[in-house]
Amino acid sequence: FSKQNGRNGFAFYFEDLNIDTRRVLVLDTEIRKAIENKDFELYFQPKVSIGDNKIVGIEALVRWKNEKLGFVSPNEFIPFAEETGLIIPISEIIIEKACEELRKLRNAGFYDLTIALNISSIHFHQYSFLDSIKNILEKNNTSAQNFEIEVTERTVMNSDSDTIRKLVRLKQLGFKLSIDDFGTGYSSLSYLVRFPLDYLKIDRSFIQHIITLDDKQAVVDAIIQMAHRLKMEVVAEGVESVQQLNLLKEMGCDYIQGYYYSRPVPMDELIEFLQIWEVVHQERIEE
Ligand code: C2E
Ligand code: MG
Ligand code: MG
Ligand code: MG
Repeated sequence: FSKQNGRNGFAFYFEDLNIDTRRVLVLDTEIRKAIENKDFELYFQPKVSIGDNKIVGIEALVRWKNEKLGFVSPNEFIPFAEETGLIIPISEIIIEKACEELRKLRNAGFYDLTIALNISSIHFHQYSFLDSIKNILEKNNTSAQNFEIEVTERTVMNSDSDTIRKLVRLKQLGFKLSIDDFGTGYSSLSYLVRFPLDYLKIDRSFIQHIITLDDKQAVVDAIIQMAHRLKMEVVAEGVESVQQLNLLKEMGCDYIQGYYYSRPVPMDELIEFLQIWEVVHQERIEE
């Protein structure tokens, strides 16, 4: 019985807790340390334009490897950090690192690619969000034109005046705006049209089954047609096969992201990928 074994109160209580509770405690401690040391990394996944096979942008995806917990998925630690409010410093670290990585990308000669940032609804709705992002960009001598902001449907669901004002302001500053994970929330396209959006990203859960499930295929087709009529471009996320790619092409989808082209990779690897891509694409033109 751990009461006898535990030499201090913490060890005693800690051992008696169930595994989930222990993980939460360790996560909390380790996330705080990671923030202190800016211990997060960014990986990048290209976004490819279907029509002309051009890479038009890259999405930054956070990675966290911890000495005790190993690799922790953003699907676990982001929602956790949102509950504790730690997402704000994490988000600021991510934006800052994105500015550093942008410099590497520009130094390698890639001048037009934008970096898409996933912005948590907690950060987005924070009173000082606009100042926070503007300050980080200014400190790094860069501008909004180099970035896209991805927010989920849920983030903009309560389209109060504050949400609209922020989106309009972001757009005026020069950011491109995307709705991420479209289809998983409750909003309708006609509702989203009041926002100044550039891209609609269809959630991977739809793309995953477009070949095998007719209803998913019909939904994706309808989303693409409607988005176009509302002057938005469509990105399909999670494309893994050439069959999915061809079907999306037929449907008139504009951009593709997914393992089919590339998994998210560190900046050095991405730059190599971009260089090879250019060569292959150049040869196609010359043929
Ligand atoms: P998301 O923004 O929708 O990102 C897409 C996720 O799908 C990424 O997972 C990506 O690695 C994965 N993915 C891309 N293509 C494929 C594919 O072909 N097949 C499969 N199976 N997966 C694919 P990841 O990196 O684990 O991120 C998960 C989620 O965590 C993101 O979903 C986003 O909501 C959140 N997240 C990631 N990075 C950040 C960040 O920097 N800030 C914030 N606030 N959230 C982030
Ligand atoms: Mg995203
Ligand atoms: Mg998404
Ligand atoms: Mg997602």
